[in-house]
Parts: sequence; structure tokens; C-alpha cells
Amino acid sequence: MPDRLADIAAEVTACTRCPLAETRTNSVPGNGDPTSPYLFVGEAPGFNEDAQGLPFVGNAGNVLNRLIEGIGLQREEVFVTNIVKCRPPDNRDPEPAEIEACSGHLRRQIELMDPEAIITLGRFSMNHFIPGERISRIHGSSHEVDGRIIIAMYHPAASLHQPGLADTLAEDFRQIPEVVAAARARAEPAPSPDPESTTATDTNSDPDSPRQLSLF
Ligand code: SF4
Repeated sequence: MPDRLADIAAEVTACTRCPLAETRTNSVPGNGDPTSPYLFVGEAPGFNEDAQGLPFVGNAGNVLNRLIEGIGLQREEVFVTNIVKCRPPDNRDPEPAEIEACSGHLRRQIELMDPEAIITLGRFSMNHFIPGERISRIHGSSHEVDGRIIIAMYHPAASLHQPGLADTLAEDFRQIPEVVAAARARAEPAPSPDPESTTATDTNSDPDSPRQLSLF
């Protein structure tokens, strides 16, 4: 797998599919542990990321690192990338055509890494997976999209501009391991019934009784 991810990184480095190729210093394929259950997807590289060719290395990166450490992980234990791999000039928002042009790179990264959860950072990343939603409404929540778990988060930089969001981000991040643990539990096969325990009370024998709601 790493070889093929390296192939994608090489393609991103040489990519000229959209006009951002003309203004970038470096493209930013992403970095981290490709075997991690967690794939973090931001919006686009900024000044520092463009200069270094690495994702989330500036102030927003420091915030992201602290949030990841807050759930008991190190940055090296997750993979981090963006929906757009080259910096939009003056840090403007990525345009729909740029997101579309770059989407093939991200799709192939996801297919290769097959993460247990994709954590979107910011509204552009969220809307790439969950169109039409508002980050202020669904931040911290998990959704199943095309068989994958998507967890929507505010962009870490939001807490630099609105300090009140720092606690919200930390609280939302705490959902991440819980959502993945719940998904693993659902995926485990149910234990076989014990044929000896015929006297056990079946509290859910009525097929019409409500089932526990899923987290999604
Ligand atoms: S933003 Fe994506 S599609 Fe555009 S040049 Fe960079 S790698 Fe290619």
C-alpha cells in the first residue's frame, strides 16, 4: 500500500489539473500513518503548508495536534490531508471546479487507506462528503455516507479566530474514538445463543418492539 500511496503523492506533486498548479510552491499530498483508522481531511494548504509541502504545519496545525493528543493519539498515528492539494492564492476559499478537479486524488487515497472514520475539518471538507449541510448544525456528529463513517468537525483554525470554539472542538473530538468503537462493536458477530439457557428472559422477543437507534 505505501508504494501506491507514494504513487498518488507523486501524481499530486506533478499535477496540473487545475489552475492552482500555476501559483503553488509545493503541492501537499498529505502525511501520517496510512494504516491509521483515522483520516483527517481539511480544506486546502495555507501559506506554511505551501512552503513546506506538508499539511497542517502552521498555527492551525498546532491546534490540530493538541486536539489529536487530547484523544490519546499522536499526530504521527493518524493520516492528514486536504480535499484540495494546492494552496489557493491569498488563502481564498477553494472553488468548486478546483475541488472537483482534485477529488480523484482524495478518492484514491481513501480507497487505498480504507480508514474506519473520515474526520472532516471545516465546512468545505464537510460539504464534499455531506452536501448541503451546515457545519454549525452538524459539528461533532457522525454520518454514514456510501458505507463510510464521516465525522464533521469545525476547522481547527476556527478556534484561533473564535476562542469560544476551542472547548467545542475538544468536546467534538472526544466523539471520534467513541464513534469508531461503537462501529467496531456493531461489526462484531453476535455471540451464539446458549442452548442450555432456555430460562433466560428474552427482553426483546417481540419482533415489533423498537431496536436501539444507531449513532448515525
Ligand atoms: S489542486 Fe489538485 S487538481 Fe489542482 S493542481 Fe493541485 S493537485 Fe492538481
